Amino acid sequence: MRVAVVGGGPVGLYAACTAALAGLDAVVIEKRSGIPDKACGEGLMPQALRALREIDIDPEGIDFRGIRYLDATGEWQAHATLPHGHGRGVRRTTLVAALRGRARELGVRHVTNRVVEHAQNARGVHLGLADGAAIDAEVVLACDGLASELRRQTELEAVVRGPVRFGLRQHFNAVPWSDDVEVYWSEDSEAYVTPVAADLVGVALLGERGGPFESRLNRFPALLARLGAAAAVGPVLGAGPLRRRARHVRHHRVLLVGDAAGYVDALTGEGLAVGFLSAQAAVAAVTDGDLDRYPKAWQRVTRRFRWSTDALLRATSRPAPRSALMPLAGSLPSAFERVVRVMT
Ligand SMILES: Cc1cc2nc3c(=O)[nH]c(=O)nc-3n(C[C@H](O)[C@H](O)[C@H](O)COP(=O)(O)OP(=O)(O)OC[C@H]3O[C@@H](n4cnc5c(N)ncnc54)[C@H](O)[C@@H]3O)c2cc1C
Repeated sequence: MRVAVVGGGPVGLYAACTAALAGLDAVVIEKRSGIPDKACGEGLMPQALRALREIDIDPEGIDFRGIRYLDATGEWQAHATLPHGHGRGVRRTTLVAALRGRARELGVRHVTNRVVEHAQNARGVHLGLADGAAIDAEVVLACDGLASELRRQTELEAVVRGPVRFGLRQHFNAVPWSDDVEVYWSEDSEAYVTPVAADLVGVALLGERGGPFESRLNRFPALLARLGAAAAVGPVLGAGPLRRRARHVRHHRVLLVGDAAGYVDALTGEGLAVGFLSAQAAVAAVTDGDLDRYPKAWQRVTRRFRWSTDALLRATSRPAPRSALMPLAGSLPSAFERVVRVMT
């Protein structure tokens, strides 16, 4: 059976590898040439690492053992050790290159082109590409990210309410100073710091406000002190709005997978783990010949992430509870540890 995967980001490539390992004929269609980079915190949580090991991928990076929350000045801190093994900071391009290599080994075909239209009938899906070519498949896994064109084309896009948040990411040439992921909280935004190589840390800024990276970084004096004179490396990349919703994750023979199926926020750093689990669920539905199973399976594997991220966002979206968060977490370390245990 031919499965076309639209989007060669980490989730699309993971889905294609899983499909090939299940004996399906998988083709990935990715609009960008080369190895696409993206604004991402680049922290692979333990569940994401486990999912990668299941398809024989163990990407290079820097292991982290816990999560440290700090207020912007560093006065208050709370730490939790990850309960289910270590995570790993992995450069996005390293992760995508490893997935691409594995997909190639497994015989997955890679097409560089943009899917611009689709049509479905009882037997399959016809994908029209930007250069006029076409690809036919029995099932399409739409892994085309936050701004999914297939979600829009299938009319599954849902209205989103609540604060509109964005993410910006920049790397710095600095020796990692901690074997934790650090999350700094200012009054209106967060800075996520992930070690990704022996001399490189990634900083992802999340929040509602726009403005250049440097000026937003000034809201985190404790982090600025840590970075010292470290040079910025590479471009600042941005992504957003972060919150997206789909009315449904299946439209006949098109299954929405990864960020395309909906996204809450990057605050809990679980997008990749959840994307890989939803890719496994989609491929299982295809191999069982029962696409109806996918929406329920998607609900099951994404529920904890959606609820915990949404709860944390709600709890911190108003100034009073937000400013109380760090002193509270810092003075109740075991309660904080329990919350992290539920969220990871
Ligand atoms: C600031 C920020 C920080 C984050 N931090 C973390 C973190 O620390 N840990 C974590 O696990 N997650 C994190 N996430 C979430 C994570 O980045 C996403 O969940 C993940 O990238 C989803 O992968 P994906 O493959 O579904 O989508 P994407 O990575 O967006 O890939 C989609 C791909 O589809 C391609 N595409 C789009 N349209 C078409 C088309 N029409 N035709 C062909 N190709 C197309 C795009 O070019 C792209 O390569 C973060 C996100 C943000 C924004």
